[in-house]
Amino acid sequence: MIRETVEVACDLLIIGGGAAGCVAAVEARERDPNLRVIVMEKAHVYRSGCLAAGISALNAYLTPDETAESFLRYAIRETVGVVRDDLTLSMAHELNAQVKRVEDWGLPIPRDELGNPLKRGRASIKIFGERIKPILGKRAEASGATILNRINATGLALRNGRVVGAYGFSVRDGRFYAVSAKAVLLCTGGASGLYRPSNPGGAAHRMWYSPFNTGAGLAMGIRAGAEMTSFEFRFIPLRVKDAIAPTGEMAQWLGAKQINALGEPYLEKYYQHLGGKRMLTQDRLYATLLEYRAGRGPCYLDLRGVNPRKLSGTISAYLSMAPSAAMLMSDEAYYARHGGEMAPVEITGGEPHVLGGHGLSGFWIDANRRTSLPGLYAAGDVAGGTPKKYASGAWAEAVIAVRNMIEDVRAQSEVEIRNDKKAAGSQGILRL
Ligand SMILES: Cc1cc2nc3c(=O)[nH]c(=O)nc-3n(C[C@H](O)[C@H](O)[C@H](O)COP(=O)(O)OP(=O)(O)OC[C@H]3O[C@@H](n4cnc5c(N)ncnc54)[C@H](O)[C@@H]3O)c2cc1C
Repeated sequence: MIRETVEVACDLLIIGGGAAGCVAAVEARERDPNLRVIVMEKAHVYRSGCLAAGISALNAYLTPDETAESFLRYAIRETVGVVRDDLTLSMAHELNAQVKRVEDWGLPIPRDELGNPLKRGRASIKIFGERIKPILGKRAEASGATILNRINATGLALRNGRVVGAYGFSVRDGRFYAVSAKAVLLCTGGASGLYRPSNPGGAAHRMWYSPFNTGAGLAMGIRAGAEMTSFEFRFIPLRVKDAIAPTGEMAQWLGAKQINALGEPYLEKYYQHLGGKRMLTQDRLYATLLEYRAGRGPCYLDLRGVNPRKLSGTISAYLSMAPSAAMLMSDEAYYARHGGEMAPVEITGGEPHVLGGHGLSGFWIDANRRTSLPGLYAAGDVAGGTPKKYASGAWAEAVIAVRNMIEDVRAQSEVEIRNDKKAAGSQGILRL
């Protein structure tokens, strides 16, 4: 029940205080300390969205052997060509500066003897990211932006076709919020829970993508008439069964082979079938599903014989990202059951998610991260077109959006002043 309505005005409203939203708030306040910035976050910026539990890598980074152009070529190959070149390139140019920025805020990034971040895979570096979200949230707070935690945004406010704010309600005390703004940035992440969950019954909420990113930002945009893109390009993760931990760490870092229930490595079979092309992430998933369908499941990542030092590093990495996988792999009973050896870990596909950071779906945006609605911008998983975005790409997009929003905000202020002067001319007063 609505108990009270709170009306607030600001220059720049950021909806969603996750990876993109927190960096956007800092960027805006650093560029213009007079800017009135509000972040509307339905949870708490210290632990919200995809980064809430922590992560162990940044998967979009230009390692010394990489350029923005080579990153684009990589993205094109990984997505079989379905990618927006302009968005991917402009994001790539920003990646390393934003990673350095968050490292300066306190994110630990291990480095090699040359001082470069430790490479985990192509365009991916290792981090100790269990506390990544409190680091971002505290910086957003310290920037002087007003953080409205526990406010769930439900709709955009439109005037003459321009987005001029948003509505929401407090999930704690029933207050209704009406925030007016000169420009609005949507950073509410993607959508999970749209498809039937892979896990049954009471475990249905155990999914890879944040179950609290419900696609609300997408819904608000669709209702307001914003153009969307590529909803058919969803993301289906290949994950450690039950722990729902990412498999890339084991496949890329440890070199673990995918085997079926008969103990046969099966990727090679499909590798041949694909005519000699290197297997892509989605191929590793598809091959696994084909093995299941052929009755040769369950499938596993074979950890027998992997380098024990690297294995213990992987278990620590999971502590920063998927602690249940670390527990599974550290369980003494588990080792006892498997004769003291690290046994194969069962893997399976999850349900599809709609998100712009791994898939392609979300708001259509231009190179300035403007949506098709004047006054509305989008960054991170809610925005489409750039499938190799991940956390660092969300930061890069947020920064690009804010730079353009500030110009937009200034233009709006001029319009307001001009209108005020006109009104003053007729009323004999000047309100500035
Ligand atoms: C389990 C998991 C592991 C990952 N591992 C990695 C990794 O190792 N490396 C990497 O680079 N990337 C990783 N990613 C991807 C990365 O976390 C995301 O791409 C990134 O967080 C996207 O940023 P975002 O700001 O768009 O969304 P989020 O960070 O999810 O932020 C969205 C925010 O919007 C808020 N919100 C949602 N709806 C509303 C509403 N209606 N009103 C107000 N607020 C709302 C949410 O509470 C949240 O705070 C991982 C993702 C997941 C799910």
